Amino acid sequence: ILKVDHLQKTYGEHQVLKDISFEVHKGEVMTIIGPSGGGKSTMLRCINLLEDPTGGKILFHDQNILDENYNIPHYRSKVGMVFQQFELFENKNVLQNCMIGQELVLKRSKEEARKVAMENLKTVGMDPYIDAKPRQLSGGQKQRVAIARAISMNPEILLFDEPTSALDPEMVGEVLETMKKLAKTGLTMIVVTHEMAFAKEVSDQVLFMSDGYVTEQGSPDEIFNHPENEKTKKFLANFR
Ligand code: ATP
Ligand code: MG
Repeated sequence: ILKVDHLQKTYGEHQVLKDISFEVHKGEVMTIIGPSGGGKSTMLRCINLLEDPTGGKILFHDQNILDENYNIPHYRSKVGMVFQQFELFENKNVLQNCMIGQELVLKRSKEEARKVAMENLKTVGMDPYIDAKPRQLSGGQKQRVAIARAISMNPEILLFDEPTSALDPEMVGEVLETMKKLAKTGLTMIVVTHEMAFAKEVSDQVLFMSDGYVTEQGSPDEIFNHPENEKTKKFLANFR
């Protein structure tokens, strides 16, 4: 469904992504781990076109989204993202947060948008809070609303950038459980995370990124139990 081919990103003199290639198939969960500053967020932002890559290709259903005449709005509507800092609309309540994108981007009617939002808020266990404003919610609750909002857009791929890093420890579990539930529905997910137990349990593939390269790539068993690269070994040793 998505193929990243020799992707590069340079800021001025600084080459943050040097040569990133991988492929994600429909229904797969790919987790990305690696040290801080390795380019994980930059890579997700390139996939989401929040940044313009400076080299390489990103193929979505075999079409390069970086081609001049590619239908970017179509692509954007198919690829969702969940951020570390939630990024909810503070002046809108939970239900409105989950409806507005559907109405504006997908041109769904209010009734349809409300129905879809309610279903997805139920999935993440936030349906009792539809009238609440984000500031009245805990971090874990906000992130679950952000997930409900993202899946209400029916994305083909959902990207997560450290979705639990801004949470108090007691709230990490509820968000990871929600993500596991989504993974089981067959949603294609690319997840940057420091939650190694989650990565081990849920991933079909794990990508280890450092210094702008994919240093190692494999199944959870290969990466966590039999890492071959010295950098992977050293990184994982800090989590044991
Ligand atoms: P972390 O685990 O800390 O989130 P990361 O792997 O997500 O790290 P990135 O945030 O992608 O790493 O950053 C990679 C490098 O790119 C860093 O050295 C950072 O300073 C640099 N960088 C990121 N965004 C920009 C920008 N807009 N302009 C210049 N440099 C940037
Ligand atoms: Mg990051």
